[in-house]
Amino acid sequence: MKILVIEDEPKAAEYLRQGLSESGYTVELAYNGPDGLHAATTGDHDLVILDVMLPGIDGFAVLSALRTAKQIPVLMLTARGKTDDKVRGFDLGADDYLVKPFQFPELLARVRTLLKRGHTVAADPIFRVGDMELDSVRHRATRGGLRIDLTAKEFALLTLLTQKSGEVLSRTQIASMVWDIHFDSDSNVVEVAMRRLRAKIDDPFPDKLIHTVRGVGYVLERRGP
Ligand code: CA
Repeated sequence: MKILVIEDEPKAAEYLRQGLSESGYTVELAYNGPDGLHAATTGDHDLVILDVMLPGIDGFAVLSALRTAKQIPVLMLTARGKTDDKVRGFDLGADDYLVKPFQFPELLARVRTLLKRGHTVAADPIFRVGDMELDSVRHRATRGGLRIDLTAKEFALLTLLTQKSGEVLSRTQIASMVWDIHFDSDSNVVEVAMRRLRAKIDDPFPDKLIHTVRGVGYVLERRGP
């Protein structure tokens, strides 16, 4: 397991390198924002430990740029215990957050949890809701074992709904996540696509998975017996 530590204070960086190495991890260090971002985007690390206060570009900017490039677990470190920072970090896609000074065993426990979570996702690319299966690697969807042919957009839409199963998504959220468009009100691109998707996923089957929540949006979940 390879961990990238982006931390400008040499003592703290060395403390992390030594502790993590002793726990069996391979550690790479970067001492500023630009070097860290470059290492994180080009390397094959399993986890990034990212300090917030960094020279060059700060940890938030590194995280934001990294998130547009790839999905990798990120644990943020900060000396400031402000709630604002924590919220900002999570908004930008940090997976966990630790306030300095911390006890090494606590850091180690969080590292282990994040690595385990990352691997579960990688090992099982199949999502299941009721009798529907979605294989995100092979781009295949089935219901009750029957293959369902979907266009690329329909597959992306179904993947989003399935990953967020049980969570109501607004049309605006769906439009920005699937089509990368940000509209205000009167575009019906989502409704049209949803109707087509339902015709394939739900219409032939007695128990429906996609539900309209009036005035809010859509949710995919099993409601049948
Ligand atoms: Ca720092």
